Amino acid sequence: MGARPSPLRVLVAGGAGFLGSHLCERLLREGGRVLCVDNFQTGCAANVAPLLQREGFTLREHDITAPLEADVDQIYNLACPASPLHYREDPVRTVRTSVVGAMNLLELATRTGARILQASTSEIYGDPAEHPQQEAYHGNVNPIGPRACYDEGKRCAETLFFDYHRQHELRTKVARIFNTYGPRMRPDDGRVISNFVVQALRGQPLTLYGDGSQSRSFCYVDDLIDGLLRLMNSADDFCGPVNLGNPVESTVRELADEVIRLTGSRSTLRYLPLPEDDPVRRRPDITLARAELGWRPTTALEDGLRRTIDYFARVAT
Ligand code: NAD
Ligand code: UDP
Repeated sequence: MGARPSPLRVLVAGGAGFLGSHLCERLLREGGRVLCVDNFQTGCAANVAPLLQREGFTLREHDITAPLEADVDQIYNLACPASPLHYREDPVRTVRTSVVGAMNLLELATRTGARILQASTSEIYGDPAEHPQQEAYHGNVNPIGPRACYDEGKRCAETLFFDYHRQHELRTKVARIFNTYGPRMRPDDGRVISNFVVQALRGQPLTLYGDGSQSRSFCYVDDLIDGLLRLMNSADDFCGPVNLGNPVESTVRELADEVIRLTGSRSTLRYLPLPEDDPVRRRPDITLARAELGWRPTTALEDGLRRTIDYFARVAT
């Protein structure tokens, strides 16, 4: 009888956040050993509390802007506040996390030989002049605006990933994630789906920024996590960047109507000013993800919203 392969040792930076906690759970389910690293800026230990009893799971409080040591085979870098509300609170810290944090993890990957995946973002495309967005599009980002700490921080992290790949032959992967939602977003996260669902469940007016005609494409968390795993385990010579998102586009106004319908809420709509540099349209072209990863999202917005509403009905009413 051959020896059983030893379990994969995986570091998830930002593992106590929304996406990170789902990723940790999925990796454990697949037999991996998971080291979750988080400074709890926007995540919390409660997100991974059920995992603490599970064999192979370790939680380490650490800020990735400081160097770290760990014996691992794979590294996922999800550490960074993702909601505009939170990343704009301390923009210098956001840049430091995106750039210095990414470098510390890339250095760790260089020392250990681990594969490393960066959770990049559709914000790379800024307010896009091309629609839908393909990976070859270089984007339209305002480098000095209030969203730049996040957008440019993430763009610089992509640069670092490709430079470490070329210069140090690291096995790097870059995922450009489009708006993703689901259970375990914070009720006060500030992003549109958590805001609308919580407001609808509480009978408060739904806050629409601008006239609600701007669009986004919303991906359910389970689909996204599946895409991240496929990317991490893809061929060594496939580095991306690759769009991961749901190509079904909705306006913010359509989303508000759908949330009101699904919750049966009597909430009204409240129009507020559009934040500066808020992108007008966003929809991923996922041709590359389909071809290279065999990936496409399978959860319809209505189904994903129902699961998200069930979650917030338990934790936020
Ligand atoms: P989140 O805010 O819930 O999670 C981020 C996690 O990173 C939190 O647990 C936070 O405490 C941790 N963190 C922040 N700074 C850190 C630091 N310096 N050191 C250690 N931990 C740190 O956000 P999310 O939606 O789960 O996003 C996860 C990642 O995916 C982010 O990098 C984000 O940019 C990227 N992303 C998410 C989306 C989305 O729609 N959810 C879209 C594009 C990109
Ligand atoms: N938005 C809104 N009301 C809210 C929160 C957000 O109308 O309570 C809008 C926001 O202006 C943007 C879209 O919804 O046009 C998505 O915003 P979110 O913060 O979720 O993500 P991002 O702007 O980063 O795509």
